[in-house]
Amino acid sequence: MKKVKKFLTVMLSAILAVSLLAGCSSKENEGTNSNSGAETKEYAEDVQAIVDRGVLRVGVKNAVVGFGFQDPLTNEYKGLEISIAEKIAEELGVDIEFTAVTAATRTALLDSGDIDCVLATFTITDERKESWDFSTPYFTDYVTVLVENASGITSLEGLVDKKVGVSSGSTSAKALVTAMIEGGFISEEGFDPETFDPSTWTTGVTFQQYDDYPTISTALSAGEIDAFSVDKSILAIYNTDSRSYIEDKFAPQDYGVATKKGSGFSSFVEELITAWIADGTIKGFVAENSLE
Ligand code: GLU
Repeated sequence: MKKVKKFLTVMLSAILAVSLLAGCSSKENEGTNSNSGAETKEYAEDVQAIVDRGVLRVGVKNAVVGFGFQDPLTNEYKGLEISIAEKIAEELGVDIEFTAVTAATRTALLDSGDIDCVLATFTITDERKESWDFSTPYFTDYVTVLVENASGITSLEGLVDKKVGVSSGSTSAKALVTAMIEGGFISEEGFDPETFDPSTWTTGVTFQQYDDYPTISTALSAGEIDAFSVDKSILAIYNTDSRSYIEDKFAPQDYGVATKKGSGFSSFVEELITAWIADGTIKGFVAENSLE
């Protein structure tokens, strides 16, 4: 009887050891996948297509310091979003190709398949989530307003009856109107967040929409508009000595990686981003880019 018991104990330990080893080796495959054996892992079809192509195509900003910035001398891209994109490519064991996008062009390029994902100060909103998948946010910014010092505007209240330059396809105008209504500076009559359109809004503040930020900056210098509103991260490069931010910042902007809705790549990216938030990788990139 004792012998049988001992035999059973030995057998059980052996089975346990074998299954533990099996567990380890499958983990190992996952862990080393990025460098050695991309083909050993089962990817969703669309993810496998990126691996087969050998290049991950990413839409990024090229003039947002700390996020997506292309050095005009070396042509090299740098920033938090560049580092995240490069790490995704590394996981897949593929090269990376950056395409400079704007708020007006990024979604069309994603829809057409010209790029696989967008890492371009792209704010997660419920409305956008209906059309694209977004990862868990990797950074949160705020909207503010840049003015010429000579304008004397220093706060949201000072923007009453002024014309504000915003990028088409951005969250900025709606965020500004919401903040002005909440501050009690303009009437909320006729405001419907679902149907809000900057080009037809005329209650207490008006908007001029542009395709890119350098054009808005030029329009501000030329006096075509009284103020320039967008996320603070984007405004930084246009904040010259003769300009200042108003004192208010509002409307938190959670940035996420956007991918095609329902794609295998969405889940792949989401797993990576949540892991990199948990293990401090993203925090490290944020610190490296002086974004704290
Ligand atoms: N982050 C804002 C948005 O997604 C501002 C626009 C931009 O990213 O250029 O609408």
